[in-house]
Amino acid sequence: MSIAAISQFGDAAACPRLVLKVGSALLVDRGGIVRRAWLEGLAAEIAEARGRGQQVVVVSSGAIALGAARLGLAQGGRASLADAQAAAAVGQIALSAVWAELLGAHVLTAAQLLLTLDDLEDRRRYLNASSTLARLLEQGAVPVVNENDSVATAEIRFGDNDRLAARVAQAAGADAVILLSDVDGLFDRDPRDPAAELVREVSGVDETVRAMAGAGSGSGMGSGGMVSKLQAAEIAGRAGIALAIVNGTHDRPLSRALAQDRGTLFHAQRRDGGRKAWLGGRIAPAGVLTVDEGCAAALGGGSSLLAAGVIAVDGEFARGDLVTIHGAKGDRLAQGLIEYSAAECRAIAGRKAGDQAELLGYAPRAAVVHRDHMVLL
Ligand code: GLU
Repeated sequence: MSIAAISQFGDAAACPRLVLKVGSALLVDRGGIVRRAWLEGLAAEIAEARGRGQQVVVVSSGAIALGAARLGLAQGGRASLADAQAAAAVGQIALSAVWAELLGAHVLTAAQLLLTLDDLEDRRRYLNASSTLARLLEQGAVPVVNENDSVATAEIRFGDNDRLAARVAQAAGADAVILLSDVDGLFDRDPRDPAAELVREVSGVDETVRAMAGAGSGSGMGSGGMVSKLQAAEIAGRAGIALAIVNGTHDRPLSRALAQDRGTLFHAQRRDGGRKAWLGGRIAPAGVLTVDEGCAAALGGGSSLLAAGVIAVDGEFARGDLVTIHGAKGDRLAQGLIEYSAAECRAIAGRKAGDQAELLGYAPRAAVVHRDHMVLL
């Protein structure tokens, strides 16, 4: 049963497993204090969802904002990476305590998971995280997930919990993700423009949809904004997971969004198999291969990527790394696992199979990126 309306995010038959992402601006006030009354309402709503037979995974931001206030750091702890890491270490312990307490008041057991980007980019570690989530949910716990900001460095960070929520939803085998935001959803233009209208449904994030996201969130507390929400919607959509952006600023925001069916619903697009969905959701490619038009058309038709169609190779990567494949105009076509190092790719780019053995010094592989290890974007 696929999810066709936001109201169905609260239906245990359509959505047995739900990921709920809560942003910093909702959880923490401007003074750096937890918005406790609001959070109590949300904890009650999570308990209600559980009562309806839904399993819930929470992705909670707020560590940096909470910790920055306690440490007296400027710019909400986001002035430097070192500040953010220190703030998160202080804030996370407080954040877990409040979740454990407020869920505990409903006899729910909170379980903390702190993940880094690599925990979900690496296949083996992704499977580990996935089985931990499954076991926790089976045992009736409510996983509360955040990025492990204290050890994440600039290169290996999600940096926003929107994409983290989409990746966690994949790892948890969830049916839907709700991003609680400080706006009603995606608007067709800058939401400050009085003519702006809420976009109720999106079937596939394309250039038109991306163009609407420029204005973003104004809170300045989280790092998300509308751009990362759309990226989250793309990751979820490709994995067969519906995603909704709803306004979280009201008391009991979940019940309100479900009852009023208000927000932006991103329909699930396709359900890739487990491994392909993981691959399609990966977000840290090591390089970019640009291909000519003929090659782009062949990829769209399901072919593997052959060296003859490659016109440029950017980045440094080794065999087995993730690369993104772009069309000649810079449009993202696909991503997959590369069969060659960057140096080898440069050597054989644009060359036919017959010329490659001499350039490589060994018999060439069947493809530069094999279709079994590639996902169209
Ligand atoms: N992980 C960060 C935190 O807990 C928030 C990231 C975001 O703003 O989305 O503070």
